[in-house]
Amino acid sequence: LKSVAILGSTGSVGTQAIEVAINLGMRVSAISANENLDLLEQQINRLKPEIACLANSQKAKALAQRIGPGIKTKITSGQAGLVEAAIGSSAEIVLVATSGTHALEALHAAIKASKTIALANKEALVSAGSIIIAEAKRSGSQIIPVDSEHSAIYQCLEGSNGEFEKILLTCSGGPFKNLSKEELAMVDSKQALMHPTWSMGKKITIDSSTLMNKGFEVIEASWLFCAPPEKIQVLIHPQSIVHSAVEFADGIAIAQMGVPDMRGPIQYALAEKKRVKGLCGSLSWPGLQLTFDEPDLERFPCLALAYEALVHGGSMALALTSANDLAVDAFLEGRIGYYDIYDVNAQTCVKEQIADPASIAQVIELEKSAKARAKGIIDAIASKRGR
Ligand code: MG
Repeated sequence: LKSVAILGSTGSVGTQAIEVAINLGMRVSAISANENLDLLEQQINRLKPEIACLANSQKAKALAQRIGPGIKTKITSGQAGLVEAAIGSSAEIVLVATSGTHALEALHAAIKASKTIALANKEALVSAGSIIIAEAKRSGSQIIPVDSEHSAIYQCLEGSNGEFEKILLTCSGGPFKNLSKEELAMVDSKQALMHPTWSMGKKITIDSSTLMNKGFEVIEASWLFCAPPEKIQVLIHPQSIVHSAVEFADGIAIAQMGVPDMRGPIQYALAEKKRVKGLCGSLSWPGLQLTFDEPDLERFPCLALAYEALVHGGSMALALTSANDLAVDAFLEGRIGYYDIYDVNAQTCVKEQIADPASIAQVIELEKSAKARAKGIIDAIASKRGR
């Protein structure tokens, strides 16, 4: 049986991936966390991995002292430690479930080492798509997406020659899908925090509500499936049963459906596409009603911005995701308004260079400079608003 390294093992996807791996009888040979010492310690005691990385080096020292003498897990930290967790264990499969760009180097190393990648990190393809895909082609490393939509598209394309007419990328519409433009403009962070569907974490909830998240998924789909922007259509599908679909030259579309449960796409990737018994339930078909609508780009301009970034190419998408990180933080802190998120994003990426970034180091540099620009724009908007 195969073993897996789980980067980001204390997060939502990471913890679910551990359950899926155990259920599949796989060994978890490496794990990593950013800050969560306590949970990582529990995971070490339970899984006895070869390597465990805690990004924070102070905490990593404390962790090394806490684990018992019977456990031989090597504790690593920092960027080098994360790379070691990705490629230094016996794992054949590396699940990247970290957030942000800090695992880019480790992901790149894992691809270079021809590991199979289960990719659950959004920023990797949005900010460094050209580098990641080129390296995967060179090394022969297989990238199996774990984001539910991309897993669905991947599954729809299985058994085809990879050619298609159109990708239909579905979208729940987010928590504010029925609000008017005027109502949306008034949404504040408190209201967003009170929203009943608040279970995914603050950042992703805001990104779902602005459709920025869907925009990033359009960019990811473009890299993963070599699809030009005009071949990717977003459809609002509030039931979240069809996780995405692909239409072919003969007019036939294949849709992938199931209960919305992340353990489905996680298992598909970890089991390397084998259909085996898992932890997800199955659909109850009688009475099932499915609707599909076009998104309103007037109310949700961040989605249009993602398409623009895709058409423009180069590092524009990288600037967009960098700006959006800070804009969402500023919105949650009450410093800027809801539609200011769009303004910050749009203004940050206008002057982006055309060339694709050439290295991971350059991606990190470009991210820094985009964040500096975005910060200036946020400060200007916040002071205009007297906040
Ligand atoms: Mg998704």
